[in-house]
Amino acid sequence: MAVKLNENLKYNFLSSDEPPVRDERVGGCIAYCGSCAGLRGDFKSGCAHAQNRKFSQSGGCQLGLAVGIINSLTRAVTIIHSPLGCCSGLAGLSGVRKTSRLSRGLSAEEQTFIHTNMDELDVVSGGLDKLRRAVIYADQEYHPEVISIVNGCVPGIIGADIDAVVRELEPQISARIVPIHCEGFKSRFVSSGYDAANHGILKYLIRDPKEYPQLTEEAQIKYDFQKKYRTSRTVNIFNVGSNSNGDEVELSRLVSALGLIPKVVPLNSTVDDLDHLGEAALNVSICATHDDYILGHLKERYGTEYLLDVLPIGINCTNTWIRKIAAHFHLEKEAERLIEQENRELKEAIAPFVEELKGKKIFVGGGETRILTTADFYKSIGMELVGIKAHNLDRFVENLLNDIDDPNLTVEVAAGQPAEELNTLNKLKPDIYIGHAGANGWVTKLGIPNIPLFGASINYMGYSGAFELARRAARALKNTNFSKNISKYVGHPLTDEWMNSDPNNNIVQGSRF
Ligand code: SF4
Repeated sequence: MAVKLNENLKYNFLSSDEPPVRDERVGGCIAYCGSCAGLRGDFKSGCAHAQNRKFSQSGGCQLGLAVGIINSLTRAVTIIHSPLGCCSGLAGLSGVRKTSRLSRGLSAEEQTFIHTNMDELDVVSGGLDKLRRAVIYADQEYHPEVISIVNGCVPGIIGADIDAVVRELEPQISARIVPIHCEGFKSRFVSSGYDAANHGILKYLIRDPKEYPQLTEEAQIKYDFQKKYRTSRTVNIFNVGSNSNGDEVELSRLVSALGLIPKVVPLNSTVDDLDHLGEAALNVSICATHDDYILGHLKERYGTEYLLDVLPIGINCTNTWIRKIAAHFHLEKEAERLIEQENRELKEAIAPFVEELKGKKIFVGGGETRILTTADFYKSIGMELVGIKAHNLDRFVENLLNDIDDPNLTVEVAAGQPAEELNTLNKLKPDIYIGHAGANGWVTKLGIPNIPLFGASINYMGYSGAFELARRAARALKNTNFSKNISKYVGHPLTDEWMNSDPNNNIVQGSRF
């Protein structure tokens, strides 16, 4: 029998100011370079959790991922409490937020970041007075619904009690204030940032929904009945920052086709939307790495059942996603009818692209669930998967990893680390690379044509997303002169000595830190 992805995981941490980091709560692998079979063995023996590298380039910080979630809420102001450097990579987020909101038909809402700009004196004195002033300023100047305080390493190291500031200011501030403990130094897993943001949302932002006491007795009975029925048919689809509006529209279309009511949360939600999160019959994740923490908590709070197992990318995984949702509502027959029709139409539509892609070598790099499902799709249409690279690998994808039928498939586990990835790619020489934002520039310098693994304005999920994946890959391979010319005239900065070495030599066993 299949083991549940979150078996034995606990979600009762709301009495604490912050959640445990992923290193403690989930564990997993952050460094590996070798064969798929070798990694599966390392997971079984436990060695996968205890690997590191001799030499590291910079990776990510959980603060960025936490901001990505909390920053998406509607009418929110974000205060970054830290020295200025923590904000250096965040400027682009205001553009991401605007694009994301406009593409969903929401008002643009200028992004407001306030930075406490901690200096040496604040490190000695604590810097909490600056934080107090920032919160009051945000409330009086912008009148937001949410003020989030995102904590960086420095206040975390000196033990600044930002939760005490929140408790002190809550009675005098009209916005809901939420402290987010996402200090980068605390975790080797950037995905800890998702838990930090979701912990704040669960503990500080979700309140009991407002009811309507002014209704007459008859109207109240009608309202209660409608609400009960609506709740019994509602499926909350948990979106993530890498989703596009196209993804949300497609997944909602599929859930509606089963006769259910889709509701996409929590990104772009208002506080009122968050208050009503409990009014659903089923919570559905589209990426367990993002949201097992929030779904596990919502089950404890409202008793709402949830699905974590699959990201609906590609034909097989979208079929599975639909079947699992349908099974919860006993709609198996409706699901099979929908799948049969959608698969037939999609296969016809992508046939010309499949012809062009068949036999081409592909490498996929990025977040663990997305790369494995994307790789499965390209394999299913006849491409040759030569390797994958994940930021990290953990229990949420062990089943997908076990499904890979090529024991010799090259697997790299590394957040960032372009030197290792380029070394690996240079040896494998794929025809096309599908990768996470940031990697594509490097890969182009090797002369490999590539397309992004996700994008805020591109549809990747569901059946229409599968069509787009096939269409984009075929289009990228039509004319590969751009990457060829970049590689010929620009090239990459890595030495021949490094490129000829085995990247696995950089991995050390049995070393946690
Ligand atoms: S939180 Fe820490 S690791 Fe993250 S950007 Fe700030 S100083 Fe760097």
